[in-house]
Amino acid sequence: MSSQPFHVIIIGAGIGGLCLAQHLKKANISVEVYERDQSRTSRLQGYRIHINPAGSRALYESLPPRLYEIFLATCGLSGKGFNFMTEQLQELLYIGVADMGIVETNPVDTHKSVSRFTLRQVLLTGLEDMVHFNKAFKRYEETADGRFTVFFEDGTSASCDVLIGADGGNSRVRKQFLPYARRIDTGHWAIQGKTLLTDEVKQLLPRRLFDGPATIIAPHGYGLFIAVQQFQQKPADIEEIAAAIQLHPNLLLSDTTDFVGWGFIARKEKFRHPEAMERMDGTDLKQVVVEMISDWHPHLQRLIGEADPSTILFTPLQSSLPIEHWQTKQVTLIGDAIHSMTPARGIGANTALRDAALLGRNLVAAHQGEQSLTQAIDDYEVKMVKYGFDAVLSSRKALEQSASLEKPLPLAMAKTTFRMLNAIPPLKRRVFQGFGTD
Ligand SMILES: Cc1cc2nc3c(=O)[nH]c(=O)nc-3n(C[C@H](O)[C@H](O)[C@H](O)COP(=O)(O)OP(=O)(O)OC[C@H]3O[C@@H](n4cnc5c(N)ncnc54)[C@H](O)[C@@H]3O)c2cc1C
Repeated sequence: MSSQPFHVIIIGAGIGGLCLAQHLKKANISVEVYERDQSRTSRLQGYRIHINPAGSRALYESLPPRLYEIFLATCGLSGKGFNFMTEQLQELLYIGVADMGIVETNPVDTHKSVSRFTLRQVLLTGLEDMVHFNKAFKRYEETADGRFTVFFEDGTSASCDVLIGADGGNSRVRKQFLPYARRIDTGHWAIQGKTLLTDEVKQLLPRRLFDGPATIIAPHGYGLFIAVQQFQQKPADIEEIAAAIQLHPNLLLSDTTDFVGWGFIARKEKFRHPEAMERMDGTDLKQVVVEMISDWHPHLQRLIGEADPSTILFTPLQSSLPIEHWQTKQVTLIGDAIHSMTPARGIGANTALRDAALLGRNLVAAHQGEQSLTQAIDDYEVKMVKYGFDAVLSSRKALEQSASLEKPLPLAMAKTTFRMLNAIPPLKRRVFQGFGTD
């Protein structure tokens, strides 16, 4: 099969779309990305993202080596494990990397934490001429020659051979391409925010939280996820690294102040004024959480109370309904656009990165004439439908499991199990082999 030039359009400059664009650019494949945000810094909000070894490998494969180095330099101090604690900050279970069977000889294969905003800036580096901001996708049309014309809200249009929807959970590309693919309301709501890691806030946190994030298991089926994000490098050092390896001078890094990211989750009927939640600002949302955890450890109440209201967001949690693989065309979907999942396992971004690396690899093979474009996309979709919807279902199960601890008896049983596993290291290692690596 001979090599065939083709042009790719990606809708959405989020984590998956940008990683794929980097992958294609590295192989000299013609690619353009269209993003509805006004500019690369127009949305400064962002939370901490856990990058697991699979996500890290996908970035390693997709980014130019020097950009991967910058990614590593902008990660938080490496997580050594994962905690489960009670709402009174008592340890239930600590799973260290050794318990997960991870031998950290290669920095690519480790668990990492990044600020979503910073990761996005790193991923945008070098793509300045290919990413078009302020371009909200409206719809596409397939033309007689099998190409696509893509229409934007501003009345302009563009053409391509391959169209990729990387436009997140509310994907308009998905709604047109696979109108029967739906997301459901999980019945859970999340309020997430950030608290600056001042010296005072550091004193509130158990030492274990500096080894890795924690899930707080609490009565009433409430859950709180807490993660400390301490950057290894301060901004000045990062500029130095960027200069040293001669990266693009416009590399924008912000959000490099240490913080504690947190996310509170509960079933929606647990909130006192559900009808008002959508209209609440950060200060009101913070107050809602503080009231709901008023019998928790005072340090946790203070941690939430100290949060910056401008970082606080309310999210009704939705989850994709798995579907069968469809008839392959030269339009496809990656990331949340096809498999949006609850944040309960922290794998949505990692799965989007995995999609980007796999689809990127297949499109490069098509570009080199090793397979047809249709074969490349079909192979990607068959694999992605399997692992993507597995991730959706396991994320939903994890959310439902924590909500099932609403009643005192299941909660007490879960705590006893965690404590027992914690007390018997060989058993802990057997149960948690491979935990969090996919
Ligand atoms: C609080 C929280 C914590 C999380 N933590 C983790 C974690 O620790 N680990 C993890 O793996 N995942 C985590 N996730 C999930 C993760 O953030 C998502 O799964 C991931 O961002 C999906 O990437 P994506 O590229 O598919 O979509 P997105 O990153 O959402 O990007 C979609 C892009 O498309 C753009 N867009 C949308 N519509 C249009 C349009 N019509 N035209 C043009 N552009 C458009 C958007 O502006 C956006 O830039 C978390 C999510 C939340 C809410």
